[in-house]
Amino acid sequence: MTSFDVIVIGGGVVGTAVLKSLASYEAKTLLLEKASDLSMGSSRANSGIVHAGYDAEPGTKKAYFNVLGAKMLPALAEELHVPYRKTGSLVAAKGGGEAGLEVLLDRAKKNGVRAEILSREKILELEPKISPEIQSALYAPDAGVVSPYKLTIAQGDFAVLNGATVKLNEKVEGIERAETGFIVKTSKGEYAAKAVVNAAGAGAKRINEAIGEMSVEQVYAAGDYYILDSKQSGVVNTVVFPLPDEKGKGILVAPTADGNVILGPTSRRVSEAQAERNAVTREGLALVREGVNRLISGVRIGDAIRVYAGTRTSVGSDFIIEESKSFPGYFMLLGICSPGLTSSPAIGEYVAEWAAKKFAFKKKEKTVPLPKKFKLSACSIEEAREKAKEDPAFGRIVCRCEKVTEGEILSAIHSPVPACTVDAVKRRVRAGMGRCQGGFCMPRVMEILSRELHLPLTAIRKGDEGSEIAPYEVKDGYEEL
Ligand SMILES: Cc1cc2nc3c(=O)[nH]c(=O)nc-3n(C[C@H](O)[C@H](O)[C@H](O)COP(=O)(O)OP(=O)(O)OC[C@H]3O[C@@H](n4cnc5c(N)ncnc54)[C@H](O)[C@@H]3O)c2cc1C
Repeated sequence: MTSFDVIVIGGGVVGTAVLKSLASYEAKTLLLEKASDLSMGSSRANSGIVHAGYDAEPGTKKAYFNVLGAKMLPALAEELHVPYRKTGSLVAAKGGGEAGLEVLLDRAKKNGVRAEILSREKILELEPKISPEIQSALYAPDAGVVSPYKLTIAQGDFAVLNGATVKLNEKVEGIERAETGFIVKTSKGEYAAKAVVNAAGAGAKRINEAIGEMSVEQVYAAGDYYILDSKQSGVVNTVVFPLPDEKGKGILVAPTADGNVILGPTSRRVSEAQAERNAVTREGLALVREGVNRLISGVRIGDAIRVYAGTRTSVGSDFIIEESKSFPGYFMLLGICSPGLTSSPAIGEYVAEWAAKKFAFKKKEKTVPLPKKFKLSACSIEEAREKAKEDPAFGRIVCRCEKVTEGEILSAIHSPVPACTVDAVKRRVRAGMGRCQGGFCMPRVMEILSRELHLPLTAIRKGDEGSEIAPYEVKDGYEEL
């Protein structure tokens, strides 16, 4: 049985943040993820907002990690070459909503977050298309947007480059105490570890039950979204929220870090089984459209290129971030709902420092930086020509909408955490994320995956097991039919 110092369960933004932070120490680490790629849970389908930190109740873990994480994220995104933009955010209120804004302003002050209340004239300077109903807003200049799945994957890549092991398609099914720590039993084998970090998102409750820790009540709230084509990118400059209510931060309109526009999310209470499926609903999408119209005028829903849903998992009103008292060495990250993405770098560092102190891991003198990858859509024609001369694969465009070359797809497939499905390629290089949503490039991406992974075309999947795109050969006798 292979032994590790720390096993992290769950390859979302929190699990990979822990793995990335641990990569700065002399520690043997393993991350186990049940899905076919990193970032397949909440970290795949969220708003991608780096919350400034005025929303969380002062004194809570949410407030502490949100504020710290928001400060860490710009440098982290730069280090890992992940799309990030400091856009600022507005909480927009109709006449009569001033008292609600004052509450948020007070929290901002207590949490140490820069914020001010703006009049309609000032709002119009930032958002010329703000709805005529909006009279005032809380402006937080330090809010931003980040690509949540690219951050998650880049953290995994960095960790692997610095010695960590990531195993995909491997579900943790049991954990036992052993003399020197724990034995983690998966769908494929067993591993020993001195410490186990439970970062399994919606699956965290089951991991707690498997080890015999306290059972927690997890609540699931699904959120529906529209993504608009990048040609709508001028419709909004900052992240625009309504005043929050008891269900959460409300339906927002925001630019994405990659240049699209995001509308949503709703907040629908769902069951554990529904949380796994992450399906949008007609009613949910209607609520998004209504919510958007109350904030920004002239948003063209006809320019939507995709709808999707994501699910938050919460346990009570705050994050649970602590070592188990019953099982020392077992660290729980439970109920990491919003602002979990923003908080993740701070949570990762906190857990890594806990492990380093407990097991006396030495800090490495230096780590290997993640190399910046060539991106055709971000370079000049001269740079593109030069690169194509060096390697002709970078001269062959596969995704026309997003201008992605075969070379970029090859580098995604052969990255430290390899892309082995069509969606995994899409999340890394955006092939299939444009206007045609893969209608043109998907067969070509499948061929490249088939060639590079030495798999028949019939075995190439969109995502997890059972999602083969062309599972059968064309039958003999087809012409006679
Ligand atoms: C609709 C919505 C909007 C949001 N908007 C924002 C936002 O704008 N800003 C912000 O800061 N936060 C936001 N959040 C919150 C943020 O997305 C989450 O806090 C964050 O993604 C949680 O990350 P995680 O790693 O804890 O969980 P996840 O991303 O869910 O990762 C957990 C992983 O564990 C794996 N797993 C589960 N069980 C097992 C097992 N038994 N064995 C192996 N692997 C297992 C899962 O497959 C999954 O990949 C939003 C969330 C949602 C759903």
